[in-house]
Amino acid sequence: MKTTNLNFSAGPTVLPPEVLETFQDAVEQYLNTGYSILSLPHRHKAFIDIIEESKALVRTLCQIDDSYEILWMQGGARMQFCMIPMNFLSPTTHAYYLDSGHWGHEAAAYAQHYGHIDILASSRQQQYNHLPTLPSEVLSGHKYLHITTNNTIYGTQWHELPTYNLPLIADMSSDILSKPQQYADCDLFYAAAQKNLGTPGTTLVAIKKDLLQHIQPNLPPMMHYGHHVKENSVLNTANVSGIYIALLMLRWIQQQTLPALFAQNNEKAQLLYQHLDNSPHFIPYVTEPSHRSQMNICFNAVNKDLESKFIHLCAQNGILGIEGHRSVGGFRVSLYNAVPLKWVHSLLDIMNHLATIA
Ligand code: PMP
Repeated sequence: MKTTNLNFSAGPTVLPPEVLETFQDAVEQYLNTGYSILSLPHRHKAFIDIIEESKALVRTLCQIDDSYEILWMQGGARMQFCMIPMNFLSPTTHAYYLDSGHWGHEAAAYAQHYGHIDILASSRQQQYNHLPTLPSEVLSGHKYLHITTNNTIYGTQWHELPTYNLPLIADMSSDILSKPQQYADCDLFYAAAQKNLGTPGTTLVAIKKDLLQHIQPNLPPMMHYGHHVKENSVLNTANVSGIYIALLMLRWIQQQTLPALFAQNNEKAQLLYQHLDNSPHFIPYVTEPSHRSQMNICFNAVNKDLESKFIHLCAQNGILGIEGHRSVGGFRVSLYNAVPLKWVHSLLDIMNHLATIA
């Protein structure tokens, strides 16, 4: 059944209609394999082709060369919170973490089980309503700096990546491939797929080959990046259909082009921020424009009455997924690549209507 709902959820998010259609055909039968994509064996040549094409597209779109390995992994971004310190830290070594939101904080907490974690900068005291100021220098000898490029829950985004003389590891789960960017500034970047890259259960990891030389000994194979590289992402039964959807998303992104997606993402976000900045009914969570996320726009209503009226209007008009994360409340509108501009206009119409009944 077709729906006319407008889904602004923080993830899993919507998929472009053409991606859904191609996937639906593949559910019937994938190419002429005789298999549905849901049952295609993970060692079938047709699936290895999916892996190879997706890796090549990641390289092209992110402009990274053969000095990186590309992996599709399971366990979501949180599994990477574990694997990164397991692979690169030991009880006597240090890493820096940037604490600019809930997910960066979680990543640091997971890492504490494996090594010494130093917080490079934090905005936790101010409930992450801005990006923390970075120090001009860092101590030498730390194994890496971990950053969350877009803070999904609070709606802040690092529009430029820090450059220090140590490996940079980036959780790009909520803004990967939303704009042209220097991906090669990162030594490892990863993204759970359920925002800009498809559906949950698939995580992209790009890792510099140099880093693979520094993996801790005695890790179980499933936790060891080197084993996943050796097995070309099919160390165990891979998420075949999830990786196929990621490939369809990568093809779609290439067709749209990153500059065009960036321009549209910018337009969507600016329209909404402009409304919030000029509205007597809403308060944007992040006030500093240069810290604002283009992917997740967080705000509150000025009082409970307006909040319930807005919730009611949204429900009446098929608007889904705009409630803020359970830890902060309020509202969050997520504007990932596949969210069309016209949905933002529809949402603004509702906000304007609210102004007439407030
Ligand atoms: N990092 C970021 C930036 C996120 O937005 C999320 C989830 N929304 C996570 C990590 C956690 O992802 P997962 O649920 O796939 O572990």
